[in-house]
Amino acid sequence: MWYAVRIVRAELISIGTELASGLALDTNSAWLAGELARLGVEVTRHVTVTDDRPAIAAELDRAAGSAGIVLVTGGLGPTDDDVTREALADAMGVPLRTDQASLEQVRAFFVRLGRRFAESNTRQARFPEGAAPIENPWGTAPGCRARLGEATVYCLPGVPREMKEMFRQAVAPDLRTLARGAVIVTRTLRCFGAGESTIGDQIADLMAAGRPVTVGITAAEGLISIRLITEARDETTAETLLAQDEADLRRRLGVLIYGTEDQTLASVVGDLLRQGQHTVATAESCTGGLLAKHLTDVPGSSAYLLGGLVTYSNRGKSDLLGVDPLLIERHGAVSEEVARQMAAGCRERTGADFVLSTTGIAGPGGGTPEKPVGLVYIALARDGGAEVKRYLLGSQLPRSSIRERTCATALNMLRLRLQ
Ligand code: AMP
Ligand code: MG
Repeated sequence: MWYAVRIVRAELISIGTELASGLALDTNSAWLAGELARLGVEVTRHVTVTDDRPAIAAELDRAAGSAGIVLVTGGLGPTDDDVTREALADAMGVPLRTDQASLEQVRAFFVRLGRRFAESNTRQARFPEGAAPIENPWGTAPGCRARLGEATVYCLPGVPREMKEMFRQAVAPDLRTLARGAVIVTRTLRCFGAGESTIGDQIADLMAAGRPVTVGITAAEGLISIRLITEARDETTAETLLAQDEADLRRRLGVLIYGTEDQTLASVVGDLLRQGQHTVATAESCTGGLLAKHLTDVPGSSAYLLGGLVTYSNRGKSDLLGVDPLLIERHGAVSEEVARQMAAGCRERTGADFVLSTTGIAGPGGGTPEKPVGLVYIALARDGGAEVKRYLLGSQLPRSSIRERTCATALNMLRLRLQ
């Protein structure tokens, strides 16, 4: 079913040499795109421009010619390298004028903070003639709203916290009126345990173009995300459409789906441990504490994580976990036997209900034909014994990927056991 909706289109321009050069990440655009989608505004382009007045003016001109809404962030600071105001004036073909009310607000901000008002800050109260300033109670840089050709241009500060607040207060209410009659709703399903192409094959028909719900797959370090996007007249209609596809995906993919939205393997495992009133501990070699890091990324994880041991050397494995040195000599530190004893030893010492242990060859060196880079053993010890699994994660992968994937695989082992 298709809905005839009036979709408002927006383009996002982030300003800053630090962004264009890759020294800082443009997080503003990602956040804005999400907020705009919720408001039924379709974002068709993200552009990053250096702090260059003619380049910004040209980009504003181009964007205003192709979208009804242009959202600009950054370049509103007090120093000479921030030239968004000037570039907007150039694009509009008007001079800059000092806005007295904005000047007072900037001044008041300094007084409130007990700071000296620098002359350069007066620049922040100058706007293209005809532009309406937007107050910034959370920082010094006011924003502005202006008409450029057929488009409405919003200039917001670069500092993410100030940008978000100004968007909520001044931009979102405008857009709600403009985009009335359309919402875009998204859902993300998180999967682990099969490759992107395998999952893609299982859901190919749902990914076909022209369906009311757009289904897409992305992969990062073995974690697969399935994104569902739909647009409809209202939220209930959109949610119903998404729920149908989600149910279908869940039927097909079963336990491959571990969560939704911002859930992580560690947070899902944490929820399951908490529900069952279980405890967990880790005994890590090749992951060097990364597994414990993932578990402790979840707030409140002390409710179930007793602790973790990083036993990177053979001696550490023997001294701290009681792994038999002869076993290490015979089978090597990267072996099923050692993984098993690491987990069992850690369980004995910590008394945790579950212990995950990792031992593997993270590379880039140290691989042999029998034990290549990417060979990993993961053990899960629990009441009644330990299961050990052997994985070949891929010798082409960088060290960081092998370590991340080992953690994900270990957490997934525990998740499947707990479910
Ligand atoms: P500006 O308004 O250009 O002076 O930006 C102030 C600060 O905000 C910069 O130093 C950046 O650290 C940050 N910033 C600017 N633009 C962005 C963006 N698109 N995403 C994330 N941070 C940003
Ligand atoms: Mg800047």
